[in-house]
Amino acid sequence: MTDGLHDLLARVAKRPRALTRPELAALLAVDGEDEIQSLFDAAYALKVKYCGKRVAMRGIVEAGNVCAKDCYYCGIRGSNGNLSRYQLSADEIVRLAELDARQGYASLVIQSGEIESEEHTRFIEDVLRRIAPLDLGVTLSLGEQKEEVYRRWKDAGAARYLLRIETSNPDLYATLHPASHSWERRVECLRALRRCGYQVGTGVMCGLPGQTYDDLARDIEFYAEMDVDMIGMGPFIPHPDTPLGTNNQPPTTNYQALTLGLKMIAVTRLHLHDVNIAAATALQALAPDGRERGVRAGANVIMPNITDTKYRRSYQLYAGKPCLDENAGMCKGCLERRLAAIGESVDYGHRGDSLHYRLRTRGSASITEGGAA
Ligand code: SAM
Repeated sequence: MTDGLHDLLARVAKRPRALTRPELAALLAVDGEDEIQSLFDAAYALKVKYCGKRVAMRGIVEAGNVCAKDCYYCGIRGSNGNLSRYQLSADEIVRLAELDARQGYASLVIQSGEIESEEHTRFIEDVLRRIAPLDLGVTLSLGEQKEEVYRRWKDAGAARYLLRIETSNPDLYATLHPASHSWERRVECLRALRRCGYQVGTGVMCGLPGQTYDDLARDIEFYAEMDVDMIGMGPFIPHPDTPLGTNNQPPTTNYQALTLGLKMIAVTRLHLHDVNIAAATALQALAPDGRERGVRAGANVIMPNITDTKYRRSYQLYAGKPCLDENAGMCKGCLERRLAAIGESVDYGHRGDSLHYRLRTRGSASITEGGAA
């Protein structure tokens, strides 16, 4: 490791938000196995300091693939006719929430394509009220909605909301979406979520066509400026049935895509310290141990898929989605073993609230050895 990198890593470990944009970009660009490993080790040390050697689990329910949006990269975009559309019933979602509680995850994510209608708003409210007695930390990831809708879902029991900005560069965003999709609205939605009192999460895709290290550095600054509590980001993986499925970019190997995704996790941890960072399933699509590597690079959350296997093929956002045929029980055992192999354990029975959220809302949470008090 060079002296410069050593000094920089020592400095950022002492104080959050200490990196300038050029320094963020330089860290993202580090090359060479030793230097990359030093980056991951420094980020992992901060993960252990703030979150302990434990990983929070949130079972993810892919509640439906009906989507009004037409994002150029996404397999469930509205105009993709090569998949059958589905929507889980309220009973099915409640049953999966009960399964999640039995698994001991204490936390649940409900994600779907984007639908804005009174009927859908009421449907989600009903589901949230029915699962409230399970006392799970519920994250919603249901796209852009009116502030009033976010408020109703919060009142019905949701605690967190994940809405990726996808990229903090509006010009790059415009190349990834039709003109009807607004980057500004997405930012406004993040602000609305914050006003409604959610733990707010955002994130980006890494390795997008035309994206630079400066864009990614700006993404991390965006997380800091929006003061978000959770980050869910992962590699962009082309889906063949989308406009970006066959782009004219130079080919990227799985190794390059994975390494970039891991570097984003590491540099985000180094800059923000106390936020929750998820090791995205897309990492596992690039390497079987992708999510564990995400943890070793600074992530502290994993979202195992608990959706019934019969729906999983219809919710393929990108090519090569893993665990298409593995039910929730198999995922649980597999993850326990995989985490044990890297000296980590599953944080059963805890909702895994973001320490950053607790600090900014209570002002009294403190750091103890290996995690938040
Ligand atoms: N509709 C909600 C929304 O827009 O936030 C949630 C569902 S959306 C399918 C979830 C995330 O999938 C998106 O935010 C996007 O980052 C990710 N995604 C979609 N296509 C992808 C691809 N080809 N590679 C990697 N991630 C992708």
